[in-house]
Amino acid sequence: MNSTKPRHAPQSHFPVREGCLHIGGVSLPRLAQRVGATPFYAYDRALLTTRVKELRAALPADLRIHYSIKANPMPAVVQHMAGLVDGLDVASAGELRVALDTNMPAQCISFAGPGKTDAELSQAIAAGALVHLESARELESVNRIGQSLGLRPQVMLRINPDFELKSSGMKMGGGPKQFGVDAEQAPLLLRRIADYGLDWHGLHIFSGSQSLNASAIAEAQSRTFELALQLAPHARQAPRLLNIGGGFGIPYFAGETALDLQLVSENLARWLPRVHAELGSTALALELGRYLAGEAGIYVTRVIDRKVSRGQVFLIVDGGMHHHLAASGNLGQVIRKNYPVAVGNKMEEQAQECVSVVGPLCTPLDVLAERMELAVAEPGDLIVVFQSGAYGASASPAGFLSHPKALEVLV
Ligand SMILES: *Cc1c(COP(=O)(O)O)cnc(C)c1O
Repeated sequence: MNSTKPRHAPQSHFPVREGCLHIGGVSLPRLAQRVGATPFYAYDRALLTTRVKELRAALPADLRIHYSIKANPMPAVVQHMAGLVDGLDVASAGELRVALDTNMPAQCISFAGPGKTDAELSQAIAAGALVHLESARELESVNRIGQSLGLRPQVMLRINPDFELKSSGMKMGGGPKQFGVDAEQAPLLLRRIADYGLDWHGLHIFSGSQSLNASAIAEAQSRTFELALQLAPHARQAPRLLNIGGGFGIPYFAGETALDLQLVSENLARWLPRVHAELGSTALALELGRYLAGEAGIYVTRVIDRKVSRGQVFLIVDGGMHHHLAASGNLGQVIRKNYPVAVGNKMEEQAQECVSVVGPLCTPLDVLAERMELAVAEPGDLIVVFQSGAYGASASPAGFLSHPKALEVLV
């Protein structure tokens, strides 16, 4: 590789022994035998645990950490996360069901997302979960459903802030948005929530996702606190909970580096005394998906064929975009970039070559690695895509081309 080219951040989460990557202490070829088929996703239980512990150690002590299930809704993963975090955030009745199967108390399960149907709202209210109101219509529905069930709904108000998380992968606040209610509308809805006698827990302000820029995150958090302090007096009681969003990213592409938590933590520590002085003992929660799960997972696929076309080597593998849309570059990327990829059973191989790794789908979009420097691989070898513990299987078009679904294991 040309040494001036940006490189991927080192993929050192999974140890390498005798040339093979190890996941949860199991060597990759042995894990593939145990799973029984490729392709599959493998998630490392110990890495998930360590990640949450390290995050808690880096942040101010009394901050709550919520896991956003949509990042990785595999039930075994959610069960494991439920024992590590303080809340689970769901965005559909299906995710709610997975969350309720864990030992997380229902009032620590938050249901956000636009367009919640009456059926979904009824399920959440009956469960005793926290409903994040995202429109005036949802407020009316929740009030009516609560009365008909004879239950007092527990609600948060989700705000569409008038700012966004800069330099983030996905913007979910600022300007016109389908998420939450515009900050300008919040005072009216807060009064109505009190008039209806709903059990109001607090505010939810989420401004963006996948940011590696600590100062941009700190700035968005500061503006979140400012907005929360400005809105809180419009409610009839102090909020018990402030969900300040998340947005912590992980490095996917060459040249990207891990988020610097220290700066984020210092900013939070500066705000906490003021927030508590003005709002009392309100709890603060961060909601994170990929930051908790993304680096703990890999996608594993086997080389079926090796072809040379007009001088370029293609490794054709048994998995692809139908299992891992994001790694193929088709989940919200403008310019396709490679995820970190390796030959998982040849991690110490000296002989390298420039190859493209493509899947079996009959479309040129089915690319897992484009002209990457990898160990020389043959049919039977195992290709690994790192940073795949979030937005993998569940964020991919599994039905496209009618191949089997990817298996998933927690090791
Ligand atoms: C998707 C989502 C998250 C999680 O985003 P990550 O980038 O995975 O951390 C958090 N909060 C809300 C409201 C979301 O919609």
